[in-house]
Amino acid sequence: MGRTTGLLPDPILTVGDHNLRYSDEFIEEVRSRNDIVDVVGQYVHLQKKGANYFGLCPFHNEKSGSFSVSQQKQMFYCFGCGAGGNVITFLMKYDNLTFQEAVKQLAENAGMQLPDEDNSPAVKAMRDKKQILLDINKEAAKYYYYQLRGKTGQKGMEYFRERKLTDETMQHFGLGYANVSSHDLVDHLKGLGYSDSQIIDAGLASHDEKMGTHDKFWNRVMFPIQDASQKVIGFGGRVMGDGKPKYLNSPETLIFDKSRNLFGLNYAKNARAGYMIICEGYMDVIAMHQAGFNMAVASLGTAFTTGQAMILKRYTDEVILSYDSDEAGTKAALRGIKILKEAGLRGKVLNLKPYKDPDEFIKNLGKEAFEERIKNAENTFFFEIRIMEEAHDMSDPESKTDFYKEVAKKLCEFEEALERENYIEAVAAKYNIAIDDLRKLVTSYAAQGGMIKTYDRPKSGIQKKTTPEDGAKKNQRLLLTWLTDEPGIFPKVAKWITPEDFSDDLYRSVAKELFEGMSQGTFSPASILDRFTDEEEHGKVAEMFNTNLIEIETKEQRRKAFHDIICGVKLAGYERQKKELKPDDPQFLQKTIQGKKDLEKLTNADISPDD
Ligand SMILES: [Zn+2]
Repeated sequence: MGRTTGLLPDPILTVGDHNLRYSDEFIEEVRSRNDIVDVVGQYVHLQKKGANYFGLCPFHNEKSGSFSVSQQKQMFYCFGCGAGGNVITFLMKYDNLTFQEAVKQLAENAGMQLPDEDNSPAVKAMRDKKQILLDINKEAAKYYYYQLRGKTGQKGMEYFRERKLTDETMQHFGLGYANVSSHDLVDHLKGLGYSDSQIIDAGLASHDEKMGTHDKFWNRVMFPIQDASQKVIGFGGRVMGDGKPKYLNSPETLIFDKSRNLFGLNYAKNARAGYMIICEGYMDVIAMHQAGFNMAVASLGTAFTTGQAMILKRYTDEVILSYDSDEAGTKAALRGIKILKEAGLRGKVLNLKPYKDPDEFIKNLGKEAFEERIKNAENTFFFEIRIMEEAHDMSDPESKTDFYKEVAKKLCEFEEALERENYIEAVAAKYNIAIDDLRKLVTSYAAQGGMIKTYDRPKSGIQKKTTPEDGAKKNQRLLLTWLTDEPGIFPKVAKWITPEDFSDDLYRSVAKELFEGMSQGTFSPASILDRFTDEEEHGKVAEMFNTNLIEIETKEQRRKAFHDIICGVKLAGYERQKKELKPDDPQFLQKTIQGKKDLEKLTNADISPDD
């Protein structure tokens, strides 16, 4: 990247429109050449049921498929977690891509010629914000990388050498160094044309009155954190000497969601070992990769999360937990086991004693010994009961009985009878318990009920209490879904309903697009989504077009449903508009009376979706 002259004009930078690089026509073409069922079908096993396709949601853990894909609407929607959107959104969400990257990938899939990239500063300035933050992080990674290998980076280099890292490993992970100056990175990035606020948003600088905008990281060796597609999204930095905190991580930013990324995943995802190893620190991952265990990843300075487990599930069924051999590590492993279960992954626990962590273990005993430990990794169930055993005094009969009871309760967690029986046998043998006694104990706990499941199921939106507001929105969603399913009813709807009848800004703007498009005969639900940048909004819009209609069998039921929905939407629209009018508005009386009259007329009218 060359030096640009001065700062980019601010107003341009605040433009949030992410479509500016590709024309609407081009995006439309990309979408029409990539059928959503084909694309999603490459990642999710889909089965046709009625008009839609269904599969297991890749964005939350579930056993029955509530993830739906509509070929007609070219949209996906999950009834379990609310994720939704079009084919571009799917790729953005699944592979953590920016809008441009997703469009580019789909265009390439379809063998389309990409329009020439315009790299003028004006266009660059208009790139979406995510891309700017990615560019800044990449520049910072380059900067730290060269610092480590230069004169000022000597301290960092000594540290890595002492940790026995080879030059090749340092290069592989792009390791770097933030020197003792607290302004040099900011100066460097500003020299490249980025503004203070962009550098702060990228997570690389802080601002206060005393120091102005200054580097977040200094006097630290730097570990760039890359997402699955190799983009640098943040950093971890370890202080040189005894400063605090020992490890400092980039804050969460628009591009860095700690709960959905893992350090080392960019390499581990291609390891195909049949399992993945999750550990605590950057150095553990690096040491393992250097020794050939390239299936290792680490959570990012936070506890292992369900989101991270769902990402691992894309690549493997089995995860080996490798936490420190101390009390905190044991606690982390117990938490990790719960998360693996929730995500539907098999787990094992690695025993590294007498060493503290994988890094130390490999340095002392070598990779063959480590390989052996992996082979003998403990099944999570036996790990859990071993920890329980340690908390009991087995020489005391009472304590011993308590332990057996707890084991029996734990055995109730196996839902499948055969699996439960296998574990009962294994436990009885291992702990020298009479198998019939143990089986009886388990059966009696199971009979007490509520014992079968002890871990929390992922929450679905279904149990939520409905409020009048939800009811109004439900009617609006039913109407929007019905319209997209049967565009033919549009003239009948437009006779009574306008976009102004929809209740909040998001619903109103979607309705406006839909009404405009339908009256011109050019409406496509999938293209509406490109007006919205936010992932959450995509889910909400997808929900509007994927609300389950009531079972309708007779023509009379159809007529009644149509009448009820139209009246429901109109009434809520009237109530809302009335609230927005001020009583001292000279037109208050006239408007409310007119509205009421219209409503009465509508209630008594014989309206039908059919002629
Ligand atoms: Zn879902």
